[in-house]
Amino acid sequence: MCSDTPRRTAIIGAGIAGLACARVLDAADLPFTLFEKARGAGGRMSSRRLPDAVLDLGAQFFSVRDATFRRAVAGWRKAGCIAPWPASLWSAETASWQRHEDDLERLCGTPSMSAVTRHLAEGLTVTAETRIERLEGSAGHWQLVDERGEHHGPFDRVVITAPSPQAHALVSPHDAPLAEACETVIQRPCWAAWALFDAPLPALPGVDDDWQAVRVNDPRLRFVVRNQLKPGRADQGESLSLLANLSWSEARLEDSEETVVEVLLDAFQQALPAGTRLPEPSALGAHRWRYAQPDVFASGEAINLDYRRSASGLALCGDGWRGPRVEDAWLSGHHLGEALVADAT
Ligand SMILES: Cc1cc2nc3c(=O)[nH]c(=O)nc-3n(C[C@H](O)[C@H](O)[C@H](O)COP(=O)(O)OP(=O)(O)OC[C@H]3O[C@@H](n4cnc5c(N)ncnc54)[C@H](O)[C@@H]3O)c2cc1C
Repeated sequence: MCSDTPRRTAIIGAGIAGLACARVLDAADLPFTLFEKARGAGGRMSSRRLPDAVLDLGAQFFSVRDATFRRAVAGWRKAGCIAPWPASLWSAETASWQRHEDDLERLCGTPSMSAVTRHLAEGLTVTAETRIERLEGSAGHWQLVDERGEHHGPFDRVVITAPSPQAHALVSPHDAPLAEACETVIQRPCWAAWALFDAPLPALPGVDDDWQAVRVNDPRLRFVVRNQLKPGRADQGESLSLLANLSWSEARLEDSEETVVEVLLDAFQQALPAGTRLPEPSALGAHRWRYAQPDVFASGEAINLDYRRSASGLALCGDGWRGPRVEDAWLSGHHLGEALVADAT
């Protein structure tokens, strides 16, 4: 399509998918406005800052498989916002720990996971603390209405990066096929607990003293990370993130934070080699991700569509349309951005 005036795009969500899309539009000099309900960019790659520690409670690392993503990651590496991690990854099964080795390249943000999205947001204006509650209008004339009742627009196109159940609420009054598509993407919940300790963890027989992360084979707990052993955080004390299994999280979604952290710490204690005990934590907490990771195999096959869009000017992107990883979310947003630029030129 050719047009003298560049088409205005609204992007809802400044997680990695929204930022990847925004970066492509920005590079093509196409006008856009980025809305984010939280205080800043990051989404499920954001980190929690406590007085004594920075904790990653969403994505813990990301892997690199795709060549286009690899090129982007090389740029982030040059910018100094990521580093390889973990160097010491373990698997624990019935209290027996084995070193986990494979050839996958894994990286994390430094000094916190949110450094990646902060880097991507550099130079872009994010309209933060603005939850878009509904859309009004039709193709070519979209207005976005936020939780204060303020209208934003008009926009020719609207990109929605919110997890599928939240995207569904926005598109369903306007676009039945997109709403139906949202219903096929199941986003599963995940509890993420954290615990700080004044004393160091005990030495574990046969395990590196500076082990960084462990996959736990337990119905409750799946992954434990030592935040202070991530790059750029040497100044903080022992600080664990404990990620629950998705099925367990589903079943215990309405439990209290206190109960969840108690169960997950207990599961971790049981995963430690016999005779080792966790010290008393000095602070504890938990975060509930209601829409944590898409079940891409829910419909029997991987989704891998990248994104969805329709003639109404509405488009959906994010991990739900491609796969359950940071890489998928970035690729989804990046490829949608390329499609929007192709339209405009
Ligand atoms: C506990 C956990 C552990 C994970 N571990 C890993 C891992 O180790 N490796 C890995 O590769 N991936 C991991 N992931 C997955 C990874 O974090 C996600 O795939 C990726 O971050 C999704 O990015 P996104 O941009 O698609 O969505 P999001 O990050 O969810 O971004 C969507 C954004 O939209 C905003 N938003 C939503 N609705 C509105 C609205 N109405 N108005 C305005 N803004 C709105 C949200 O606040 C959010 O910022 C993990 C996820 C979780 C939760």
